[in-house]
Amino acid sequence: MSVPRLVATWRFGLGACDAAWSLLEQGDGPGAVVAACDHAERDPTVDSVGYGGIPDGSGRVTLDASYMESPRVAAGVCVVGRHLAVAQIARLAAERTRQVLIAGPGADEFAQQAGVESAALLSPTAAMAPQGAGAHDTIGVLGVDAAGRLFGACSTSGLGRKRPGRVGDSPIIGHGLYVDPEVGAVTATGTGELIMRVCGSFLAVELMRRGASTLDALQEVLQRIDRTLDVSPSDQVAFLALRSDGECAGAALINGFEFAMRDSAGARLCGPGVTIHHRPANQS
Ligand code: ASP
Repeated sequence: MSVPRLVATWRFGLGACDAAWSLLEQGDGPGAVVAACDHAERDPTVDSVGYGGIPDGSGRVTLDASYMESPRVAAGVCVVGRHLAVAQIARLAAERTRQVLIAGPGADEFAQQAGVESAALLSPTAAMAPQGAGAHDTIGVLGVDAAGRLFGACSTSGLGRKRPGRVGDSPIIGHGLYVDPEVGAVTATGTGELIMRVCGSFLAVELMRRGASTLDALQEVLQRIDRTLDVSPSDQVAFLALRSDGECAGAALINGFEFAMRDSAGARLCGPGVTIHHRPANQS
């Protein structure tokens, strides 16, 4: 038996975890991690996820998401242009298809066939966001239920003003999210181009498999990114990790990262256990 727990990236993860908690308590882990993403996807004040997401360079909002509970049940959708509930669509793809990644119009078509409601994605506020706006902050959610089963989902509109067609880490299994029931779950947020060059979430889970604690694993991945890649001062990368015994950790490249934790004691905001560089985060 485990202690049920939800963790989610960033401050907006607090409301998301609260909204999803009753589902986890009832034993619906898949529903809980998707509901947490859904909460952020519908919130017009979150300018980096779902409705409210800053558009790409052509003025269009496109969404990316993934869902995973094991290497067998895992999928992502990317460049979704006509549906808001992208974490739910990723879950449906994981449960109902053999595909691991469905992109663009094909992802919208899959959603339509699966009966997911279509939606306009560009909020009036995001449409008015200044050209220089470059918000990014994925919601990544990890959950463990009372039976010790792990679940993960993440959802994002990607980098604000991104090149049309650009895809980041979030919808790609192993980059923005990885869940291995035997080891643990990891999700990422921040500059996808850095996370993807080291298969960040997969790498962290593999380090945990070899005995690293959640915090040590995340720290090692961040140090690898910092040491081997071209990291600019404004780049942020942060990870969350959760094990089936409830051990969890957050770690970040630069300060500014926070995450939400929800268990039977309530929801609280936590800081990362490790920050590699203490310099101001200008995009968190
Ligand atoms: N990781 C996301 C991406 O690169 C954005 C973010 O989390 O800030 O698309």
